[in-house]
Amino acid sequence: MKTIRTDVLIIGSGFGAAAPALRLAAAGAKVVVLEKGPPVGTADFRQTSDPNYILKYIKGTAGDHLSLTYAEALGGGSGFYEMVSLRAPSPVFDQVDESGRRLWPESLDRRALDPYYDRAEAMLHVSQIALEEVPKTGLVFAQLMKNLGYSVDRCRYAVRGCQGSSFCVTGCVYGAKQSLFLNYLPQAVAAGATIETEIEAIALHPLPAVRQPAPARLRDVPYRYEIIARRRTGTRETIRYVARLVILGGGTVGTADLLLRSRPNLPFLSEHVGRNIAYNGSVKVAAVLPDGFPDGDMFTGRTHPGMISYQFFASHGITVHAVKALPLMLVSTAHLRPEARSRTSGWWGPPHQDLMRQLRHRVIVLDAFGLTPPAATLAIGERGARTLSLPVDAELERYHSRVKDVLEAILVQNGCRLVQTDFLDKNLQPQQGIHFSTAHQVGSCRMADSKAAGVVDAAGEVFDYPGLYVSDGAAIPSSLAVNTSLTILANAERIADGVAARYGLTASRPGLRPPAPGRSGDPGSRS
Ligand SMILES: Cc1cc2nc3c(=O)[nH]c(=O)nc-3n(C[C@H](O)[C@H](O)[C@H](O)COP(=O)(O)OP(=O)(O)OC[C@H]3O[C@@H](n4cnc5c(N)ncnc54)[C@H](O)[C@@H]3O)c2cc1C
Ligand code: SF4
Repeated sequence: MKTIRTDVLIIGSGFGAAAPALRLAAAGAKVVVLEKGPPVGTADFRQTSDPNYILKYIKGTAGDHLSLTYAEALGGGSGFYEMVSLRAPSPVFDQVDESGRRLWPESLDRRALDPYYDRAEAMLHVSQIALEEVPKTGLVFAQLMKNLGYSVDRCRYAVRGCQGSSFCVTGCVYGAKQSLFLNYLPQAVAAGATIETEIEAIALHPLPAVRQPAPARLRDVPYRYEIIARRRTGTRETIRYVARLVILGGGTVGTADLLLRSRPNLPFLSEHVGRNIAYNGSVKVAAVLPDGFPDGDMFTGRTHPGMISYQFFASHGITVHAVKALPLMLVSTAHLRPEARSRTSGWWGPPHQDLMRQLRHRVIVLDAFGLTPPAATLAIGERGARTLSLPVDAELERYHSRVKDVLEAILVQNGCRLVQTDFLDKNLQPQQGIHFSTAHQVGSCRMADSKAAGVVDAAGEVFDYPGLYVSDGAAIPSSLAVNTSLTILANAERIADGVAARYGLTASRPGLRPPAPGRSGDPGSRS
């Protein structure tokens, strides 16, 4: 088996991985990035609902009461996300568990992350959407809220030169979306990093040197970890990577999966691996707009409708927005029932045809993101298959019904006719009981102040495994009530700074030096 030695091995190429790849390479470390998904870029994208195309990149893990969606490709979720880029509100960081313990490490709050949010926003050119670019669905949502005296804000996006083509979730063919393969990743390569795609890390082993005290400079640190990886194409060659530092950025599912499968080699690993997954408590409600109300339009403008309301954040811990969906994605994940009285989910018949005819212009879907506790668990079953479970208790039932009531009240008070929504399992059968689906999963290897409460410390370093870091969504300890990517990226920037400081790495290449936290504008940004 071939052995490749490197200073820093990074698993994954999404938001959690891209920042350390760039910062550590720019500071002079030898960096190798392994991405299991295929290479992808602007020229590869298609504007289509073809499931063969979509399923090449978009993957899912479904379980009891919860489904998770994520992308596996160069840049992780960044090629396919809706590019909404929001900072988590300050109270998010003060959430506590049932015993009153703060979910986030004591040293971390919005103020501590703000300088890194600044840096992440500068890198991705995040800005607020102009009023004239707000999609019609967003304008209708704003009107619904305004009629009731509720506030709404225009969202912030990582995009430049948007054409409003409505295919954000199949990838931007115009290169307008600021995906990571347009900024962080090519800059990391320019700084000397190597990025390999279609190679999956399958096992992690500590080497004996992991128990030796680590010197202050990276170049003096012995090789401490071995990663076994396999090519997913061609000969499916197995390769051994040996590294002084390993940074896991495989995402909430990918990072937990690798650590769980490697657990026999990692006897001191926290028992929390795979646990405490937070999922932003997304509750959705659909309705038909009343006659005389302006038209929405599901299929033009950005995929995300452009507006968000913080009106119910203080009272209910939720933010509210509207959602749009490509027709095939919608009917494969949810069945809309036109008549509230009908007990069975009929796919056919005139009432359903009538509803489908109205779908594009007259149907509005509201969605709330909330601060549900981090209660889901990912495990590896006896035959190596993943299992995902979310226990539903009375409190979660109450949250679901309370939030549904808020959304239904917004619609009904505006004269909308509610549409019953059955969320479907992979056999297209209605889910039993309440079911949450999200692309905002975080926390399977959460940061905490002690191993008794989490998997990594506030610096992202795995408890009892020096030099092994988690820098992606898996490290984020709580629901955010807003989209997750910007917080993951800001936290990864923070972790990268910490690693560089710990190992005496300083930005050595002119033009690649990161902006000091707190300063906007990045001389290294060349996208
Ligand atoms: C359709 C969609 C729309 C979204 N819209 C938004 C939005 O508008 N705003 C927002 O903030 N968020 C959005 N998100 C969520 C956002 O994309 C995620 O929060 C973010 O990508 C998570 O970052 P991450 O670094 O944790 O992992 P990811 O970005 O998922 O990256 C992990 C990468 O690691 C790779 N990997 C995993 N395991 C291994 C392994 N063993 N070996 C090698 N590679 C591995 C994966 O293939 C993947 O590419 C959306 C997500 C989806 C799917
Ligand atoms: S709506 Fe804008 S960002 Fe989305 S795919 Fe079209 S041009 Fe790209």
